[in-house]
Amino acid sequence: MADKRAERIAELIAPLRVPPGTRVDLARDFDPRYKAHLKKRQGRELLRTGVELLAEYQARLAAQNTYGVLFCLQALDAGGKDGTIRHVMSGMNPQGVQVSSFKVPSVEELDHDYLWRYAHHLPARGDIAVFNRSHYEEVLVVRVHPDVLDRQRLPPETRGKKLWKRRFRQINDWERYLTENGITVVKLFLNLSKDEQRTRFLQRIDRPEKNWKFSAADVRERRFWDDYQRAFSRMLSETSTPWAPWYVIPADRKWFARICASAVLVHTLMELDPQYPTIGERAREDLLTARRELEEQTPEGTPDDPPPRSRTEG
Ligand code: ATP
Ligand code: MG
Repeated sequence: MADKRAERIAELIAPLRVPPGTRVDLARDFDPRYKAHLKKRQGRELLRTGVELLAEYQARLAAQNTYGVLFCLQALDAGGKDGTIRHVMSGMNPQGVQVSSFKVPSVEELDHDYLWRYAHHLPARGDIAVFNRSHYEEVLVVRVHPDVLDRQRLPPETRGKKLWKRRFRQINDWERYLTENGITVVKLFLNLSKDEQRTRFLQRIDRPEKNWKFSAADVRERRFWDDYQRAFSRMLSETSTPWAPWYVIPADRKWFARICASAVLVHTLMELDPQYPTIGERAREDLLTARRELEEQTPEGTPDDPPPRSRTEG
């Protein structure tokens, strides 16, 4: 049963994975409206399965306390990051998940090397961290707007044409270091079409309950659409690695994007296959001794104590 589900999930996400070393052209290679012949109704059931599996695997990840998982989410404005996080996380134990949202860097953050602020929010062993925007902004918004790079006050010898190549290498090295130390890194790019972004902005203007989400700055940023598409294509080409792959999630249909995001996370956890720790012979004897002691304290007239339960229950 678990194998069948694992197979189905692997099949669903295979076309979304960016093969390491390929040159990606977003517009040519990935369709924001793709939905794998699924109907919305089938999708609802799949999402429920995904949420259940996530809960089960998260509990095992936490119990094993050996690996951490970092889940990076990137998208253009109105790409659906918030909704994806809300849905994917709905079955998880809040104690084991931290979501960090990265905004324009503060003065203090700008006083450090560019990866500093992201390193602060890495997951502990047993935990899942979600980066809502991530260190990839450092090769996206920073690349599209040169004045943002100026504010980073880099030493002059590190500026110039080679800067982006070097940043890609540094990010790959950092992620490799993390995976080699038990922090699994998975990256999702929510791929929205320009037309769907326009529709979502219009809804934010027209529906009173969505007005709070509208920002005129987002519409201004849309003028840089082509620059962003180029920056995303380069990022995907240079930083999808065997140790930390990128998945391009078709984002024009929110329900499908959520299924894919949860499928990628489930797949990652299934591959890690965390196990509940087992205890040795000595520790088991100690448990039985403790059980006998508790049995001796049973008050008169109490119905029989429950029989020992299996480890996976409750
Ligand atoms: P939402 O709009 O859904 O609340 P958001 O992630 O768009 O979520 P905002 O506060 O609107 O949050 O925007 C964050 C802004 O911070 C974005 O415009 C992004 O480009 C910018 N940003 C993030 N990281 C950096 C960075 N390293 N350097 C400069 N700007 C950054
Ligand atoms: Mg925003």
